[in-house]
Amino acid sequence: MLDADFFRRWMTATTASVDREAERLTALDSPIGDADHGSNLQRGFRAVAAALEKEAPQTPGAVLVLAGRQLISTVGGASGPLYGTLLRRTGKALGDASEVGEAQLTEALRAGVDAVMTLGGAAPGDKTMIDALVPAVEALGDGDFAAARAAAEEGALATTPMLARKGRASYLGERSIGHQDPGATSSSLLVAALAEADGE
Ligand code: ADP
Ligand code: MG
Repeated sequence: MLDADFFRRWMTATTASVDREAERLTALDSPIGDADHGSNLQRGFRAVAAALEKEAPQTPGAVLVLAGRQLISTVGGASGPLYGTLLRRTGKALGDASEVGEAQLTEALRAGVDAVMTLGGAAPGDKTMIDALVPAVEALGDGDFAAARAAAEEGALATTPMLARKGRASYLGERSIGHQDPGATSSSLLVAALAEADGE
């Protein structure tokens, strides 16, 4: 079972990883975006970490709903509302239980990823965060965090040859081909942090 502490560790591990990788995320956002993805997420997840410390939410659902709300209110770019929706919707799906099972987390994440697709209109293959998140949820199953991490990393790498159909990168048309998507890359960090929270 996964308790509120597990979800706090997930968010803190994501904050640390985004801090470490911020320059790389921004560099990926330079050729096919506006070079702000690293700083956007750094601002957002630092706000998440501060809010979690201040408000100390006591259930898995409450941790993710609070984190999602922080991302929506502090990140100006497209990724803020999208990641915010992911975490908020996942948190809502977990309800107010004090502990949740691994399979329940997978179902909740699936609902979260579906909400991101509804909000942003992206499908797999459009060269977005969806290309890392969908395979990660599929691989997670009954709590295989390492498999989810590998699937997300593979999904992010697989965006390189894709033509962007959503977001800023889509304005470039064919010129978006040959660059790894920054949002798919940060999604793989988020999923890797889940494995880290699990102690891997
Ligand atoms: P902005 O594009 O506003 O500068 P960011 O640079 O923070 O925002 O985030 C860009 C990332 O957001 C992209 O790499 C992509 O993965 C993701 N993204 C953009 N639009 C969408 C969308 N409609 N659906 C899913 N993900 C999207
Ligand atoms: Mg950007």
